[in-house]
Parts: sequence; structure tokens; C-alpha cells
Amino acid sequence: MRARLDLGLALALTFAAMLSACSSGVDKPYFRTDGVAIPVSNCAIDPRSFGRAESVPDFTEASGCGGRNVYRIYDISGITFSQPALVRCEVADTLAEWIANTVQPRAKAIFGQNIVSFKIAASYSCRPRNNVRGAKLSEHGMANAIDIAAFTLSDGREINVLDDWYSGPSENRAFLRAIRSEACGPFHTVLGPGSDAEHKDHLHLDLQKERSGGPYCH
Ligand SMILES: [Zn+2]
Repeated sequence: MRARLDLGLALALTFAAMLSACSSGVDKPYFRTDGVAIPVSNCAIDPRSFGRAESVPDFTEASGCGGRNVYRIYDISGITFSQPALVRCEVADTLAEWIANTVQPRAKAIFGQNIVSFKIAASYSCRPRNNVRGAKLSEHGMANAIDIAAFTLSDGREINVLDDWYSGPSENRAFLRAIRSEACGPFHTVLGPGSDAEHKDHLHLDLQKERSGGPYCH
């Protein structure tokens, strides 16, 4: 009898939760595009000169997402991507710069070896910021952002943002903190563990237009 009452209560609560979820989404567009303009890309360097990449024709989706001077990137400067990343060329250029100036020097100094692959969690994705319905269009919807979840060393060891940021070996924590902090500047927005619940398992790097207050690295 008790079990039956509990089941009834659980069903009632589930139904109430479904109703409130539905009502909060009514009339809200998936994302806002006011003030949003797909960035024009004038690349200093063609991404094909530092890795395996394919040029993608400019595109615009009916929803407002799109990209200009976008490339499908397979690897950059000897670092293989776990899945091809669709980013505009300036994001690829900035990744190449970050890899050369920060990622590899830090990996060499801390581990005595190079990074050979990035685990790519996301690149181009037509969605609102933080996947919150009604929020502004994400930089991912303009091919202007990349999410990296893990880094693999040449000996096969993986440095994983979710597992290592707080509780990994000290050198893994030092490496992740160094590359995150030095991404700030070359990239205009840098987010990760501690920023919010959405970013606990990856580093988000984007080239959102410079704000008056400079880069946003939280
Ligand atoms: Zn992201």
C-alpha cells in the first residue's frame, strides 16, 4: 500500500514538473540574435599552412547561425583533433599561436614531452549560450568558439579537465591552470571549471568581439 502511494506521489510530481517545464518555454525563441553579427574573418595565416584543414564555403542558417571563412580542422601543428572542428580561420590561427607559445612549451616544461592530441568537445553548434533557451546566440553558433575536454601526451597519458582540474596529479593541475590562464588575451573569452556548471568538464575558448573591459576570463 505504502509503495503504491509513493508511486502515485512520484507520478504527480513528475507531471507537475513537466507542466512547469512546458510553460516556461512558451513563446521563447531558441536564442536571441539582436546585436549579433557573424564575424568577418581576415586571416593572417591560412590554417592549411599549419595543419590538415579544409575550407568550408560561407554559410548562413535561417535561424541566424552561420560562419565566414570557416575551416574544418583535423590537426594543428602536429596536434590531432579527436573530431574535426568547424571554426572560422581566426580561431584556428589563435589556436596555432596558443599551441606554439603556451601548450607545447608548458607540456615540455612540466612533462618533458609534447601534447599530441586534443579531445574536442564542441566547435560550430547552432544554439543559445550555455544551452539556455531564450539566451543570446552562442559564439559556437558563429564558428567562433571551441571546447576542449582533454589533452593527450606523446606517451599516451591523458590530462582531462573534468577529472584533473581539482583532483588530478599536481603536474596535471599545474598544466591545465597554466594553459587556461595564458589562453586569456589571445582568446577573448576563456571559461572552464569554476566558471559555472556548464564548463566543469572543458575549456571554452572564443574570439567574441573585444569588450570595452578587455577579455573575459572567469
Ligand atoms: Zn563552449
